[in-house]
Amino acid sequence: MIPKSADVVIIGAGAIGCSIAYHLARRGQTDVVVLERDLIGSGTTSKAAGGIRAQFGTETEVRFSLESLDFFRRFEEEMGTSCYLRQVGYLFLLNDERDLERFRQQVAMQQRLGVDVQIISPQEARELVPQLAIEDLLAAVYCPTDGYAGTNEVVMGYARKAREKGVRILEQTEVVDILVHGERVAGVQTTRGTIATPLVVNAAGPWAGLIGKMLGQELPLLPRRRHIFFTEPFPDFVHPSPLVIDRTSGFYCRAEGPGVLMSPGDAEAVPLSYHVGIDWSKAEETAQKATRRVPVLQRAGIMSGWAGLRPLTPDEHAIIDYLPGVEGVLCAIGFCGHGFQHSPAAGRVVAEMILDGQPSLDLSLFRLSRFQNREITQQGRAPEPEGNRMR
Ligand SMILES: Cc1cc2nc3c(=O)[nH]c(=O)nc-3n(C[C@H](O)[C@H](O)[C@H](O)COP(=O)(O)OP(=O)(O)OC[C@H]3O[C@@H](n4cnc5c(N)ncnc54)[C@H](O)[C@@H]3O)c2cc1C
Repeated sequence: MIPKSADVVIIGAGAIGCSIAYHLARRGQTDVVVLERDLIGSGTTSKAAGGIRAQFGTETEVRFSLESLDFFRRFEEEMGTSCYLRQVGYLFLLNDERDLERFRQQVAMQQRLGVDVQIISPQEARELVPQLAIEDLLAAVYCPTDGYAGTNEVVMGYARKAREKGVRILEQTEVVDILVHGERVAGVQTTRGTIATPLVVNAAGPWAGLIGKMLGQELPLLPRRRHIFFTEPFPDFVHPSPLVIDRTSGFYCRAEGPGVLMSPGDAEAVPLSYHVGIDWSKAEETAQKATRRVPVLQRAGIMSGWAGLRPLTPDEHAIIDYLPGVEGVLCAIGFCGHGFQHSPAAGRVVAEMILDGQPSLDLSLFRLSRFQNREITQQGRAPEPEGNRMR
């Protein structure tokens, strides 16, 4: 049965929404309802590669990464199940002088914050991944503590623990409208009835712009499609391997089971739709980029793949802020290509904003007002909803 009211209603049971629910419950706020129109973790969280890195360009995001990595390390102790964290490292390959200069500055900042990251030579990169073509490279950047974890294990871990503490997570329950009385939020209307609440958290991932539209507001969010492909078992690539990112082409790959996970690094607009059907011409593009950087991969057959939406903002930083114009709507959206890995820290700080009135970290990077004087382009507007928007 759908509850009549709740202190907090969270829209979206992805990594972000479930982490917020878990962190609220952990601190004793259990009168929380999470509404998910499909199944827990079935949104874009299910499409993530599970990558976890401390190599970000801003101090706030590096702090988010360090806190989140620490959480993933303690995951089993806190959640009772493993999240299969594998610290295989991230290896960025650079062949552009200006890019290298940018990385030098970022590496200095990351080292100052305690990240074990260093600039290494192309030859040293090839010692880590002997199949690399390095002739055109100037340098590489390597952080051995980066890696990946199981996205499903993490999101289900948050959800299970939140439920154990009393949070209600309702699947197949879509929010179709937000009810406002005067200047304040009063509740949400769902496909299964209405829930009264003074606080709505928008954690709807790439669809968060549609929640904004329910309140007559345009949110600066750009759902962008990205593909991932998996090869058949391929012992000629090093196993395990770091995640290798070719900065020139955007291509990335790492060992996955007995095969190789690869992405062309695409960031395509999906105009006026949320359609994420797979475009098999992308497999060809991926194979071409792979062959240039890891020539042996031309012998690897692509076995399967998928596409998903990354919820991008124009500056590729998330939005963690209250919506102006209406009291009681908190956004935790726009986590781009790093929402899975930043979900532990994001959940904790959003719980602080709700329970303490302010977060313990400086979150000015994520304020919505940073877009105030920028024009939100057509591309930045949420596409209109359509029937087949989930797949
Ligand atoms: C190919 C690909 C690779 C990626 N790789 C990585 C990676 O390596 N590392 C990383 O950290 N991130 C990665 N990401 C990004 C990551 O997937 C996202 O940043 C993250 O999953 C966002 O989580 P979320 O909870 O905000 O969104 P979601 O998981 O999409 O959750 C939002 C939920 O809201 C629900 N919803 C929407 N509208 C409504 C409504 N009206 N009513 C009820 N429910 C609603 C949706 O069904 C959905 O389940 C990748 C993304 C893609 C596409």
